[in-house]
Amino acid sequence: MVDLSQLNPRQREAAKYIDGPLLVLAGAGSGKTSVITRKIAYLIDACGIKSHHIAAVTFTNKAAKEMKERVMQLTGRGGARGLTVSTFHNLGLGIIRQELSTAGYKSGFSILDQDDCKGIIRDVMHREHGDDGDMLDMVQNEISNLKNDLITPEQAINKAASPQEVLVAQTYSVYQRMLKAYNAVDFDDLIMVPTILFRDNPEVLTRWQKKIRYLLVDEYQDTNTSQYELVKLLVGHRNGLTVVGDDDQSIYAWRGARPENLSLLKKDFPSLKLIKLEQNYRSTGLILNAANIVIDNNPHEFEKKLWSDQGYGDPIKILKCKNDEVESERIATEIVERRLRYGGTYRDFAVLYRGNHQSRMIEMKLQAYQVPYKLSGGQSFFGRNEIKDIMAYLRLLINPTDDAAFLRVVNTPRREIGPSTIEKLSEYAAMRNISMIAATTEMGLEQVLMPKALDRLRRFGHWLERITRNAYTDDPVAAIKEMIDDIDYEGYLHQNSGTPHQAERRMKNVYFLVDQIQKMIDKADELGDECTIEDAVGKLILRDMLEQQSEEDENDQVQLMTLHASKGLEFPHVYIMGMEEELMPHRNSIEADTIEEERRLMYVGITRAKRTLTLTYAGKRRQYGEATDTTHSRFLDELPPDDIEWEGKSETSPEESKKRGQDTLDSLMNLF
Ligand code: ATP
Ligand code: MG
Repeated sequence: MVDLSQLNPRQREAAKYIDGPLLVLAGAGSGKTSVITRKIAYLIDACGIKSHHIAAVTFTNKAAKEMKERVMQLTGRGGARGLTVSTFHNLGLGIIRQELSTAGYKSGFSILDQDDCKGIIRDVMHREHGDDGDMLDMVQNEISNLKNDLITPEQAINKAASPQEVLVAQTYSVYQRMLKAYNAVDFDDLIMVPTILFRDNPEVLTRWQKKIRYLLVDEYQDTNTSQYELVKLLVGHRNGLTVVGDDDQSIYAWRGARPENLSLLKKDFPSLKLIKLEQNYRSTGLILNAANIVIDNNPHEFEKKLWSDQGYGDPIKILKCKNDEVESERIATEIVERRLRYGGTYRDFAVLYRGNHQSRMIEMKLQAYQVPYKLSGGQSFFGRNEIKDIMAYLRLLINPTDDAAFLRVVNTPRREIGPSTIEKLSEYAAMRNISMIAATTEMGLEQVLMPKALDRLRRFGHWLERITRNAYTDDPVAAIKEMIDDIDYEGYLHQNSGTPHQAERRMKNVYFLVDQIQKMIDKADELGDECTIEDAVGKLILRDMLEQQSEEDENDQVQLMTLHASKGLEFPHVYIMGMEEELMPHRNSIEADTIEEERRLMYVGITRAKRTLTLTYAGKRRQYGEATDTTHSRFLDELPPDDIEWEGKSETSPEESKKRGQDTLDSLMNLF
């Protein structure tokens, strides 16, 4: 029988309450998710509800996986059989799969990712409106918002008032028809389609209501309109609903989440019971206090208290670093040092950041110190297509027999070398037992290939030979840059990326890679050593392998993820990097005046930490190739000064100290 004795009285009350819909509203680390997992076990063990009649929904796949594991520990593997623990999107996918024909799809339908969808929208806009892509991001965003608000294309067209809304609505309508024609859905359809299906087909809904007798929702504050509607439909007039959430952790308004859904619950479920939890079991007193003080700067609809009896713990550290490279280096060395000094494992450490692009530098530094890490969400550096492409070129430069690399680059960018040419080249090379690149210059190839194809291949072979020669005899980095220019890789990225912005970002990754080679050469130079192109690329290949290996080794890795992705998780030691104005809070939020949402994100970040919290920022940050001065984040000033150790704060810039001087003067003047 499930043991609820480890829960505090209020948690226990929440776990055992089954007489009506329940809302548990409480701050971070107060055991909301724990209540959900215990309650599932209680429903199965004590209430006799079969596990396949229970569904729990959470926000990320990682959180769903952890939740299922926790339930399995409580009930045993058999007890949890058939239990649904998933994200909203996976739940929706399951419903569409089972109701395929009613939903209007054929079997084998596909789910398109953001980029695929962008491509379709771009085509539609180009064809129907002659648009050249300027409005693309806006339109894709708006379509997503419409879907999250459960607005169909017909409704969108009817209510469109401005020319922009008309453009969005018309594009939406054609786009949706195209998706149907492709037998495909996008991410937002995974919620919208089942919700509309339930709304329009009572008999289907009844069937699903019979299946899901009890529904539990974690991170409720981040549900959007369509998700909320899905919950309401599934629960109907029954009592089987427990939702837990924290309005202070609502961080997805930009994706249509409506924190007001928390207050709507009371209206939609008049018998709703509210339970608040107040003890935080996660963090030390200082960390919790800092989180409470920061979030107090936001207006509050719900009154919540949160305390901890874990002792004060270590002060919160703030580190000012000279630039973004030093910042990552510092974090990497601190992790290594702390682990050596205090023992523990790498997985006790998490590095959090505002945007995925920030992971690049910390990845490089962790690799340099051979620290295994796991990047959640986003793409790891060497896993990016542009890096794979350029790495393949580099591999060929140092090893012309690398056929796998040859195959990757021969048509990237396009050189009109067709598959049958490649096939014949490959057969010929195998027969002669030589590499494919060597085969391109062999006379015998004339017998097997048409002159045009042969000519293209040879030109490619000769060109690569020349670049290789330059790389060995001349400045290697100059040769690599020439190579990237020759193939017009930037142009290629522009043709093959969703937006110019994305192309630029990808090109920056390429420059970053080239920069790394330059740095290795310079460093060796300083030490009086030589670093050839072979050495440098060899090192990069090793890092690439280390990255792959660390992806395989699930167990002991530093966790890298965005602040958004960290929601619901906890780590003994947390680093939050890039604590600068325009980065955290993000520039868009400053411009759009949505600082409160950024502050909630800050609150989420701080409350992930159990024992230590370190916040870092860089005095200078490299952006678009140029290092610009930064200002530290306003959120750092909101922290209680007595509880922090701020390293490097006094090293103020001349302008700053001048301004501070003036401020002091002003306040002195006010005294008189
Ligand atoms: P978040 O808002 O960040 O999602 P949460 O409210 O879901 O947090 P949990 O993750 O459930 O909080 O719990 C935080 C930590 O406290 C976990 O390590 C959990 O095991 C522990 N915990 C929860 N309740 C208790 C309790 N009654 N006694 C001891 N530890 C507890
Ligand atoms: Mg939780």
